[in-house]
Order: sequence, then C-alpha cells, then structure tokens
Amino acid sequence: MPELPEVETIAQQLRAGRSDGTPPLIGRTIVRARALWAREIDGMSARAFERQTRNRAVTSIGRHGKYLIIGLGEAGTAAPLSMLVHLRMSGRLDVVAQVDAGTKHARVVWELDGGWALRFDDARKFGRVYLVADPAQVTGRTGPDALQISAGEFSERLSHRRGALKSILLDQAFIAGVGNIYADESLFLAGLRPKRLAQTLGDADRLRLHAAVRQTLLDGVAANGASFDWVYPGGNYQDNFRVYGRTGRACVTCGRPIQRIIVGQRSTHYCAHCQK
Ligand SMILES: [Zn+2]
Repeated sequence: MPELPEVETIAQQLRAGRSDGTPPLIGRTIVRARALWAREIDGMSARAFERQTRNRAVTSIGRHGKYLIIGLGEAGTAAPLSMLVHLRMSGRLDVVAQVDAGTKHARVVWELDGGWALRFDDARKFGRVYLVADPAQVTGRTGPDALQISAGEFSERLSHRRGALKSILLDQAFIAGVGNIYADESLFLAGLRPKRLAQTLGDADRLRLHAAVRQTLLDGVAANGASFDWVYPGGNYQDNFRVYGRTGRACVTCGRPIQRIIVGQRSTHYCAHCQK
C-alpha cells in the first residue's frame, strides 16, 4: 500500500514528467474523462464527474498525507476545482499515450491534449477519486501532513493520546501519510517499542519520535519510495529497511534477531534490545 513517500514520488513525476519522454501533467488539458468504474468516484455519478472535469487544464499537483491533489482550472464560467486521488491498496496513476490507456484495470481515464492520457489503474478497486471545490472537504478528515507538522504541534497532539505508539502513528486522524512500513522504521529510529504507551513518553521522547518520523519519510522520498510488489515499482527504499520484513534477521545496530508481533491487527517489526 503506497504511503507518503510513494505518493510524493508519484506527485513529483506528474509535476516534472519522466525521463522516457512522458510530459508533465501540469499544463495539459482534459479533453474528455471516462469513469469506467463509477464506484471509484466519490459522491457523484460517473456522468457528472465526466462533465465537470471536461475542458479543464491541470494547474497544480500537491499532496496531503496519502492523497494526491490535482488542481483543475476553470472551464467556461465554472470555478476551479480540486481532484483528489487516494490510491489505497493497488491504485496507480500514470500519464501514458492515449493508445495505451485501455488497460484491463483502468478505472478512470482522462484523455489529454496532445494524444496523452492520465490513467488510474486499480486492480482491487479500493481507490477513490474526489472532485471538490476545496481540498479541505476531503483532507479535513485527516490530521496534519506527516512531513508538514512541526515538532511542537506533533508533541502537543501526541501528549493528548493514549495507547500503543504504532497504532497512533497509523491513525490518519493523528498525522496523515504514515503506513505500516514507515511506522515500524520510525519507531526503530526513535528507539521506541511499537507497543510503548504514548502516555509513558516524556517531552524528549515525543520530540525524538517526531524527528524519526520526519527523517524516515524524507529518506523514503529520497529513495523514490519502496517497491514492494508490481503495484508500485521504481523505488529502492526497501534496500534500507532496518526492521520492516526482517523477522529473525540480525538487527543492524545490536545483531540480535528482529521480532515480529501483531499490533492493532498489523504485522509489526522491532528490536527488543534497541527499542524501549
Ligand atoms: Zn537491536
């Protein structure tokens, strides 16, 4: 499942284009949208979505947590809109040649000017596309972005929470963008156990955890995210995993075996010696 660094990598590719000649998405115009699987469109019919996105230029590409935010310019007298995409389990968003847009798992295709298309592929159909006047209508359900939140705000928010740190980091209402991989890696870097209760932390622990979350996410972005299966190819952060998926292998710090436990129904990896 893509987390903040994977979604940020996709945002950067859509902004800049790719070295294979695929152009930036910014500046292109949607000639025609086709919602092929209506249930991926949140809160409106496929036809309304197709009508409202037509003839709009892409003006910006942003991100909040795991949401991609695509700014769409005005069309005629209609005001600008924001289109948000959440990839969930298996979503992929790519600019492709229009002739290549009709893949088996294509759920939404936006035909662009110049013979290009933006294609949302989603084998498992959990992904969602939102069309709203203000992105906060969607992102307001989550907490601050995990890379934008300041140390002070992180510490303040965490000081009001109770329960296992792993579960809190995964709670998108606490901070937005951290998933299973980056939660485990952040807790290792901070030297805190996944089941450590938030109410037992002091100020220094909370600030250390904020720094660790931030560093882990930045490392992930620098590596173009992690490639864990066919869904999200291209990144190499998986080569830097220190605990995630390393059950039984030697801790990079102390050499003792990495443990695997379940926290909040999620597979969790840590070093019982290095994390307290
Ligand atoms: Zn260790």
